[in-house]
Amino acid sequence: MISAAAVVAAGLGAVPFVTSASAAVDLAHQTLPADDGWAASGSGTTGGSKADAAHVYTVTNRAELAKALGSVSDTTPRIIRVKGLIDANGGSGCEDYAAGTGYSLSAYLKAYDPAVWGRSKKPSGTQENARKAAAAKQAKNVVFRVPSNTTLVGVPGTGAGIRGGSVAVQNVDNVIIRNLAFSATEDCFPQWDPTDGSQGEWNSAYDSVTLRGATHVWADHNTFTDAPLYDSSLKTYFGRKYQVHDGALDITNGSDLVTVERNLFTSHDKTMLIGSSDTDSVGRLRVTLHHNVWKGITQRAPLARLGQIHLYNNHYDTTKVNGYAHSYSVNARAKAQIVAEHNVWTLSSDRKVSQLLSGDGTGAVAGRGNVVNGAVTDVVAAYNAASSKKLKTSVNWTPKLTAGLQTSAAGLPDELAGTVGAGVLTEQGTVKR
Ligand code: CA
Ligand code: CA
Repeated sequence: MISAAAVVAAGLGAVPFVTSASAAVDLAHQTLPADDGWAASGSGTTGGSKADAAHVYTVTNRAELAKALGSVSDTTPRIIRVKGLIDANGGSGCEDYAAGTGYSLSAYLKAYDPAVWGRSKKPSGTQENARKAAAAKQAKNVVFRVPSNTTLVGVPGTGAGIRGGSVAVQNVDNVIIRNLAFSATEDCFPQWDPTDGSQGEWNSAYDSVTLRGATHVWADHNTFTDAPLYDSSLKTYFGRKYQVHDGALDITNGSDLVTVERNLFTSHDKTMLIGSSDTDSVGRLRVTLHHNVWKGITQRAPLARLGQIHLYNNHYDTTKVNGYAHSYSVNARAKAQIVAEHNVWTLSSDRKVSQLLSGDGTGAVAGRGNVVNGAVTDVVAAYNAASSKKLKTSVNWTPKLTAGLQTSAAGLPDELAGTVGAGVLTEQGTVKR
């Protein structure tokens, strides 16, 4: 919970006292509290809090949202209040995007069947061009580019969220995303890549929220889920799952100074990338993840590369939800420097302590005070004892922006249940109980 007074102090510097009730800052105008993770460094993260009255928008559908976002080149501070659930496709379906492009799944499958096309090169030619054309039509509807100095916030009590959308925070600075439920982000036109892995993969384009080259971003009290279409009901073509989902919240392409807190991640496979490749960006990708709940998540919570990542007071529940079985929680690769402290795992009986982490042998996880099923447990040692690609156990930095860090984690599952994710914040930014 963030008190209004703390928010005022964080946003305006030295405020001696709040003079009246009306001086309290409402949810839409709140800023990241001081010292609250990497996004608090330097100038901090204020989003659109300095918006004048003409740049405070309330939007109820995709057209209004797109209009309020305006152009990414316009960095005027703006607050966009999302009222209710916005359908990013605006009523259009996959068949509407395909219309007129010549794309059909059956023709695509016929053209790139490994028996015909082989497995040595990616699809190209008529059907791949048609797929790209149809995908471009979908992208025009569902991708929302966020300009610098923006707060995107759900209006309390309205079930606020974006269904089927991809909020893109790309090469911009100072963005706040709060109190929004992201669901059903689906690519109508997955691309077959026979060269991806040993058996090929169907790849999809849209993360619910994607950060690329973004700085100073605060994502707080949002919910991320694939609902209502789960991977277990997807079809299989060429022996591989016809995957329509990409990441839930990916932080890539040299993004930096990001705080992700009190979100609920559920019913998703590849949930959060930090760094898109082993050469993404050195000296950036600094991310704090705290007080999030990860339940019914298969993997990448997160998969981190290169950066300095602080992971504290999260609750991981390995219970299978809606068909999403746990593979691992946290992956450190490409020399990622992760400090993982005072997190809690609720380990289901089908999983072992050695299966909570993953790595490529170069990543580091400095862990302390982590709790598994009520007992303080060295999760790094448990992983290393069972793995040939061992995690390094010391890191090259010490977290300093640690507001709210609780050094006693045992009570976190109860504390976080029902107080994270979208729909629990009030207009005052406090948690509804
Ligand atoms: Ca993918
Ligand atoms: Ca992605």
